[in-house]
Amino acid sequence: MFADKMILRIPGPTPIPPRVQQAMNQPMIGHRSGQFSDLFASTAERLRPYFGTSGDVFILAGSGTSALEMSVVNTLQPGEEAAVLVSGAFGERFAKICERYGIVVHRLEVPWGEAVTAEKLATFLADKPSVQAVFATYCETSTGVQNPIRELAQVVREKSDALFIVDAVSCLGAVACEMDEWGVDIVVTGSQKAFMLPTGLAFLAASKRAWEVIDRKKPLAFYLDLKAYRKSFADKTTPYTPAVSLVFGLAEVCNMLEEEGLPAIIKRHELMRDMTRAAMRALNIPLMAQDEFAAATVTSCHPQDAFDPEQLRKVLKNHHNIVIAGGQQHLKGKIFRIGHMGYCEPLDVLQVVAAIELSLRQIGAPAELGAGVKAAQEVLLTHV
Ligand SMILES: *Cc1c(COP(=O)(O)O)cnc(C)c1O
Repeated sequence: MFADKMILRIPGPTPIPPRVQQAMNQPMIGHRSGQFSDLFASTAERLRPYFGTSGDVFILAGSGTSALEMSVVNTLQPGEEAAVLVSGAFGERFAKICERYGIVVHRLEVPWGEAVTAEKLATFLADKPSVQAVFATYCETSTGVQNPIRELAQVVREKSDALFIVDAVSCLGAVACEMDEWGVDIVVTGSQKAFMLPTGLAFLAASKRAWEVIDRKKPLAFYLDLKAYRKSFADKTTPYTPAVSLVFGLAEVCNMLEEEGLPAIIKRHELMRDMTRAAMRALNIPLMAQDEFAAATVTSCHPQDAFDPEQLRKVLKNHHNIVIAGGQQHLKGKIFRIGHMGYCEPLDVLQVVAAIELSLRQIGAPAELGAGVKAAQEVLLTHV
């Protein structure tokens, strides 16, 4: 097998398009140069449509979690209260970050595989008037659930004065997000998922309401002080050395996203989701998320006792050069997750489905060769 043909179908990091890889190979330039400043400012502005904001999008050097942490340390103080919607591993991460800074956390937990609904949130917030921020996960990567952010934002707006802060790391750039229109106060994301880049950039956008709060508070961290980023942003730069090569890559990603257009990008991801789900159903492999809340970027499958997902993953990787993800925390060894985001198109879904069928047979699990592929093709056929 060709090592350089290893196919990543995990929910991040995702494959890098060759033209993006090439853009990142440009010779280094000074990070305080006019050339970099212009590139940085224009690229940051080109990110706005994916957040659905007319405000600034801040870019920092760090993995996605750095932006999650940034959203916490600038909006809350120790002893203040936050509600965290926990539908899986990443919701739990938000809760842990808050707790690390001494913030009082109220967890709204739902079983893994379920979404947090507007009704649940409304009930939860009803007796918690002191909550100053509500944290949610847009795509809960650990379960393949996409939480109804638009509806949740409406509840927060109507039922409280809290800020609504959303982790969109594993779906922004692939799904609709209209933070201004929906009333979301902070959206954070990272570079290595739908943005088709290596890990290392994190993005954050904040509403006017959020800035009013941020301006009143003392940041609880130094590197993640959002006010410092805003000050530098006015000079088209960052307070600390930016990840110049990744910004080169990001500009090329923006070219690609603009060429395809956001509506088409969103449709492509929905199509890949529907193809993947149809295929798994045809192979009698239970899905974790209900149709209504199924993520466009990652599909989680729970084979119960039909076969060992870890054995499937091993054969897929060793025999077919395809990497899919396993489960996290209590779902480790129990589920498998197929990433279909970023530099991935419908025919790539047929490939991973075909390889899963082969691998199932190789591990002695029942699978009709071609059944999943056919089901996915039938979905695709209605879109061509
Ligand atoms: C990947 C991911 C993150 C960030 O993880 P990092 O490893 O810090 O980049 C945060 N939230 C969600 C939902 C994710 O999928």
